[in-house]
Amino acid sequence: MDQPIRIFQRIDELQKVLDSYRRDGISIGLVPTMGSLHDGHSSLLRASIKENDKTVCSIFVNKIQFNNEDDYLGYPQNVDDDSKLLSDLGCDILFAPSEDEMYGGFNSIQFQFGEFFKTMEGAFRPGHFNGVGVVVSKLFNIVRPDRAYFGEKDLQQLLLINRLVKELNFQIDIKSVPTIREDSGLALSSRNKKLSDVQAGVASGIYLLLNKAVNQLLNGDDLQTVRAEVTQRFKDNRDMKLEYVEFVDIANMATPDMSWFEKPEAICIAAEIGGIRLIDNLQFSL
Ligand code: AMP
Repeated sequence: MDQPIRIFQRIDELQKVLDSYRRDGISIGLVPTMGSLHDGHSSLLRASIKENDKTVCSIFVNKIQFNNEDDYLGYPQNVDDDSKLLSDLGCDILFAPSEDEMYGGFNSIQFQFGEFFKTMEGAFRPGHFNGVGVVVSKLFNIVRPDRAYFGEKDLQQLLLINRLVKELNFQIDIKSVPTIREDSGLALSSRNKKLSDVQAGVASGIYLLLNKAVNQLLNGDDLQTVRAEVTQRFKDNRDMKLEYVEFVDIANMATPDMSWFEKPEAICIAAEIGGIRLIDNLQFSL
């Protein structure tokens, strides 16, 4: 019979077990999440379970990465469903620390990432990437995984993690996992649980717009034209408010206004529907 999932709230207790794994040459995969798990998370977990002897899923709603108190307080949480899903998938360990266990009252380190991380999520969510950088560094130090899994859905975050690992010399292989979507094209997100059926229908329009924009680029339209068109589409739709639409040179970590931008490789969008903030992106090659 499969081993039941082990749940740890304490760092020292988790580390004791992970140390014994390491002594026995057992490889460890880490999937950091904020819970309210869905098929997007499952895809990361399946990849980790396949590629590692043991998988740790962390669930921690990291207050310091939220720039909006209501967004933090209203973030969906569903611990019972989450642990059942993790057990069914065959995840070995759930690490679910309290705020105090993770931060112990300390929050003095501040990360400053480069120019690229002041755009998009960095611009619209001040302090967000500092919070992500701090919590992911802490999780990496606590778990010391061989591999860690992140979704392409949060493209800018994925690029930030790659940068963090390089600059701080974490000996961790970062694995990216493609975005999982509803049949409608809507990217799965814990925040989707807050959308009504009608709002979810409206939100699926984001994927259509991304695809249309990419097709225009492939047909030779320039970035300004495509950006203007996407912006207009949002203006025409009273149910959705565009925060940004941006093109990203992934290899060079640049947006078009940066001198080191060479060519667009992804289009990223953030939009609000009834106060619920959604992000999505599509990668392409011109
Ligand atoms: P979160 O719980 O939203 O912080 O997400 C935890 C991890 O799951 C992050 O690496 C996300 O990029 C990833 N993720 C979230 N939604 C999806 C999705 N629809 N497809 C693939 N990965 C996802």
